[in-house]
Amino acid sequence: MPELPEVEIVKRGLEPAITGKVFKRAQIRRSDLRVPVPRNFKSVIEGQSVRKISRRGKYILIFLEGGQVVVLHLGMSGRIHIHEPGAAYKPEKHDHVILDMDDGGRIVFNDPRRFGMLYMAPANDWEKQDPFLKMGPEPLGNEFSGPCLEEKLRGRKSNIKSALLDQKIVAGIGNIYACEALFESGINPERAAGRIAGKDAECLAGSIRSVLQKAIAAGGSSLKDYRQTDGSLGYFQHAFSVYDKEGKKCPGCTCDTDVRRIVQAGRSTFFCPVKQR
Ligand SMILES: [Zn+2]
Repeated sequence: MPELPEVEIVKRGLEPAITGKVFKRAQIRRSDLRVPVPRNFKSVIEGQSVRKISRRGKYILIFLEGGQVVVLHLGMSGRIHIHEPGAAYKPEKHDHVILDMDDGGRIVFNDPRRFGMLYMAPANDWEKQDPFLKMGPEPLGNEFSGPCLEEKLRGRKSNIKSALLDQKIVAGIGNIYACEALFESGINPERAAGRIAGKDAECLAGSIRSVLQKAIAAGGSSLKDYRQTDGSLGYFQHAFSVYDKEGKKCPGCTCDTDVRRIVQAGRSTFFCPVKQR
């Protein structure tokens, strides 16, 4: 599932392809995504120019000149493929939404499992709606810090790994980057979230930032479906320390221990029991 780095890469790919340009034509080939594409989607966006594009957590926000914002979530398997002006294109299976720009470029949303979402919200109100209203801080934003993370974790009874997946605590983190950040910070995934404070919170916040930044620099992680907007793979999966490395030598210390896998809240957690205390 695309997490913050993958969504950020898609956003950066879309930025030059749509900013300041006009949606000339929208084709909805299938509207039954996790949230159905609104019936008026085509009539609202056709003829509209794009003012700016941004990201919040795992969501991409496309602000239209007319005062609406298009909200895009890639779900489990969603991909955005950008076709340069003049490029040949024949719709492929699972190409559900096709957006033609006024410069001849084409944005295609492909989603085999259809857990993605594409809908609209008023530009002056989107932050007051679900899921943004209660969403935690952006981990790469200025507000995110050790004390900020500590504050969000205070009183939480769950383990720290599961807490990091809660978008209300911090936005955009999923299973891969939760495991990698805990490994980098040396914090055991089974520790109680509410007990992570002071230096530990400082260290974990720093590790979250650095893992996400490294992943963005590598174009994200391509496991199954994720691709960059030109169709190329991300390559951060080759840099995983522990994620999906059960039984492999721990790369982070001289512990001579194998990476262990446990299941927490139904999700696999990978960690080193020696380095992570
Ligand atoms: Zn180790």
